[in-house]
Amino acid sequence: MDSPLDALRAARDHARRRLAEVEVQLAQLRDARGAESADDEHDPEGGTLSAEWSRIEGVRVGVLAEMAGIDAAFDRVAAGTFGICETCGEVIPQGRLEVRPTATRCVRCAERRQ
Ligand SMILES: [Zn+2]
Repeated sequence: MDSPLDALRAARDHARRRLAEVEVQLAQLRDARGAESADDEHDPEGGTLSAEWSRIEGVRVGVLAEMAGIDAAFDRVAAGTFGICETCGEVIPQGRLEVRPTATRCVRCAERRQ
């Protein structure tokens, strides 16, 4: 089975791919928007493009947050604190880290915080 570190690397690869996809989509929208405003300011498509832009920008923000969590997990690997609950200092079970390699708390502490 995957070790938590493998899961973390896979999550990072996945997030990077998602970010690249989202950036392509944003670049395409930017082009579409540019063509549109040069064309006609009152294009009825304008609202749709803006809504799509907001949606994809929201996805991008989510992916960036995910990557920040993954980077922080790699920092913990380097510091030797990966897999240790930041609240109680207990070891986070391997199974939890395989599913959520960016987890910073054990299940008990994570549930208590909600
Ligand atoms: Zn804990």
